[in-house]
Amino acid sequence: MARKITKKKTTIKKKPAKKQLAKYRAKRDFEVTAEPAGTTAVKASKRRRFVIQKHDATRLHYDLRLELDGVFKSWAVTRGPSLDPADKRLAVEVEDHPLDYGDFEGTIPKGQYGGGTVMIWDRGYWTSDDPERGLKKGDLKFTLDGDKLRGEWVLVRMRHDRTGGKRTNWLLIKHRDDAARDGKANDILEQKDSVASGRSMDAIAAGRGKGPKPFMTAKRARAPASAEWDSNKGIAAKARTSAKRSLAKAKTMKAEVMPEFIGPQLCTARERPPSGTGWGHEIKFDGYRIQLRVSDGEVSLRTRKGLDWTAKFPAIAVTAKELPDCIIDGEVVALDGKGAPDFAGLQAALSDDDTDQLIFFAFDLLFAAGHDWRDQPLTDRKAALAELLENSIKSTARGDIRYVEHFETGGDAVLRSACRMSLEGIISKRLDAPYRSERTMDWIKSKCRAGH
Ligand code: MN
Repeated sequence: MARKITKKKTTIKKKPAKKQLAKYRAKRDFEVTAEPAGTTAVKASKRRRFVIQKHDATRLHYDLRLELDGVFKSWAVTRGPSLDPADKRLAVEVEDHPLDYGDFEGTIPKGQYGGGTVMIWDRGYWTSDDPERGLKKGDLKFTLDGDKLRGEWVLVRMRHDRTGGKRTNWLLIKHRDDAARDGKANDILEQKDSVASGRSMDAIAAGRGKGPKPFMTAKRARAPASAEWDSNKGIAAKARTSAKRSLAKAKTMKAEVMPEFIGPQLCTARERPPSGTGWGHEIKFDGYRIQLRVSDGEVSLRTRKGLDWTAKFPAIAVTAKELPDCIIDGEVVALDGKGAPDFAGLQAALSDDDTDQLIFFAFDLLFAAGHDWRDQPLTDRKAALAELLENSIKSTARGDIRYVEHFETGGDAVLRSACRMSLEGIISKRLDAPYRSERTMDWIKSKCRAGH
């Protein structure tokens, strides 16, 4: 018997929120302004995105836009964000904006609503425990992970002014955390260039230079706006669960003999990182390439030529004792005060015999669980490496041995972030390639130089 289909067409949740954007559209004449009408489909993102647009209108201000339910909740922050928790900044609630607005950089014609120059001043991702509730309550706590702004923030709604003004005013306040800066309220605003095009306000106003790189309307998800190179989150975390050869599987196979030493794979230098897909981009470390080998709790740390330098890195060797039998490729690095690798610091530490501040950054797994991993694709080797470190090092808090995260998209963006952080450059590696003890085109190094 044919069943009558009575089910109504379900409304798609992410439909471009027409009603929510009515105000936005009513204020603009899209025949005149180049601003988006909000008709370009924007791919859903697993992480909520944010954008801050510096807007040189009647009065200069910074428009903070937080992605929520398919639109950008928006505030005009009159004096711009401040990193000083004591410095509360007025944020005037404005109409919801379409998501493709986040890629708009250019000039709104004079006489039009918001006439003036718009720059993509910052962008990235934001998180909040319960943003809907926070907005409703007028107390929205959130965390920003952008190129310029980071850490915890809060937007607090004020009572409507006595004048009975139509505007809803909020205060944007930095929470006290590592990203806060006391008494340096406007320091962050000194970072004046566009994060999307590198242009100044003047260049945008004059229509000079390259246009912005898309973020909201990018074909593929962009690398995280800030390439945080020692984080344990990110794309690789996802890869960890999809490894073809997993540590667990390897353990059930017949064991092989672990080599004493494996010659390192070397990079080929190039002007720019490869732009295609299938690459993982890692931060280039300014330290000593070291191979870590553990056999029955006995640790050796060898240079790329195979010299035994274990005695030079006692703290790392002690931590490595916690690992099961394995061979890991990595780099020993000293960090400067800002967390950037510091070669001079490394040399000083070695000559003073004060090597406790040195860190082994682990980026490849050559042998583990009784098996040679070199023929496995990099993705699987790194997934197994991350798992191995996570499972065996109890004292991770000490940070002697850290997993090196990689970014799978936007080599240029990762390089730019690295250069901004005063790092040396990046290494791009083919994700499907095996490990080879020679110089290959599967590993490409690109360095920061003037212009990045
Ligand atoms: Mn504005």
